[in-house]
Amino acid sequence: MKTEPGNVPLDAGQLAAPWARVRAKLRAEVGEVEYRNWLRQMVLRGVEGELVAISLPSRFLRDWVRDHYGDRLKALCLPEWPGTRRVDFRVMADAGTDASTQAESGLAESLTPSPRSPAVAASAARVTEAARENEWMAPLDPRLTFDSFVVGKPNEFAHACARRVAERPASAGFNPLFLYGGVGLGKTHLMHSIAWAIREAHPQKPVAYMSAEKFMYRFIGALRGGNTMEFKTQLRSVDILMIDDLQFLIGKDNTQEEFFHTFNALVDAGKQIVVSADKSPNDLSGIEDRLRTRLGGGIVADLHATTYELRLSILQAKVAQAGVDVPVKVLELLAHKIASNVRDLEGALNRLVAHAKLFSRPLTLENVPEVLSDLLRTHEKRITIDDIQRKVAEHYAIRMTDMFSARRARAVARPRQVAMYLAKQLTSRSLPEIGRRFGNRDHTTVMHAVSRIQQLMAEDRVLAEDVTLLRRMLET
Ligand code: ADP
Ligand code: MG
Repeated sequence: MKTEPGNVPLDAGQLAAPWARVRAKLRAEVGEVEYRNWLRQMVLRGVEGELVAISLPSRFLRDWVRDHYGDRLKALCLPEWPGTRRVDFRVMADAGTDASTQAESGLAESLTPSPRSPAVAASAARVTEAARENEWMAPLDPRLTFDSFVVGKPNEFAHACARRVAERPASAGFNPLFLYGGVGLGKTHLMHSIAWAIREAHPQKPVAYMSAEKFMYRFIGALRGGNTMEFKTQLRSVDILMIDDLQFLIGKDNTQEEFFHTFNALVDAGKQIVVSADKSPNDLSGIEDRLRTRLGGGIVADLHATTYELRLSILQAKVAQAGVDVPVKVLELLAHKIASNVRDLEGALNRLVAHAKLFSRPLTLENVPEVLSDLLRTHEKRITIDDIQRKVAEHYAIRMTDMFSARRARAVARPRQVAMYLAKQLTSRSLPEIGRRFGNRDHTTVMHAVSRIQQLMAEDRVLAEDVTLLRRMLET
């Protein structure tokens, strides 16, 4: 924005109250649902002379808000800032970062300095500078909050730990928080949720969230540029450090060393660390033992593979959030067939919805296979009951024939139940069909096995890990 005398940009403190009024009026006009769906994520970037700049997190949302609410917003801005002639809509990624304006509106880029930090909001130029300074902190996704995280058996422990850390950062026993699990099971979602929640409850605490890869690039960049001191000081000034996908540091010795020192400095100073990885600290091969020990020294929480019930709940939540009408039968089919991870599940749902909109015809069970033929085929063909029985027998070192035998000794009955459970989760066979394949057992036996294993997985860590492992082996 061009700055002329008498036309200076207003600072964040001056903007907060009028902006809150604009939002409140718009909310009253359009109603809660519409506001939530489209407008909640608006951020005021600045007001200067006749221009009001607003940003949204995606191009799609930006266009939608501009086209549907642009005129109303301009009208509502006029009484607050009488010079207003134009409202500019931007996408967050290409707009400057005014951290304090964002904090006011409940949406901020990754490192939140104190809202009263003198560096921000004084002038457009300084704002851009501040953005550059903090840009190495990855931005948070406004969709990934505790509100949108669906809790079920496989993730309830990890979720509870994440909540706890968000409520009381750096409390004994919960530092570091180490989250692990396979791809697409919600690690990043939980980390963003923690960051958002801390930001809301403790706006004065700087939170840094970044991927391990980013950490590495920044560190190497600092080494090359000869400003490692600055890198260290910046990192060590945060209250919460979150590193996502730590496995990327494996084999990067220099970076690992730096992370180790940062880690120690922060924990010793009573700061919270949250780390995610694809494996538990013990199973992460290629990291130094002293780092492994520190990583496992707080609380370690596993995100287990999803169950049918969780997948269905997630689909229901997503459908409700998007305000689209999808028959329950269709959701059940997806939850049933797409058992790999939540990301694939979301992808399938998005595709269905887009398809229905594009051709403006309702979604029915009949047109799902056609739209998702590629996804359904891979997920259906890949795993057979036979594969499952073989793998499970191998894992528990029992004979394959014990899968069909009438023996009821725990040593064979439990693995058999595990195999039945996996057959239900990973194939599209019905309960009676599964029963038949396990020595002609009744479908109620299968049902019992499924619920028994589900229950045991919540109580028995070893069993839960066995099942997760078997599942990963079968799925990959
Ligand atoms: P990871 O980091 O473990 O690979 P993500 O956190 O990126 O997985 O999750 C993949 C996608 O699935 C994201 O869009 C995320 O919002 C969604 N997702 C995962 N778990 C849940 C859940 N329990 N409830 C709602 N959405 C979820
Ligand atoms: Mg992730």
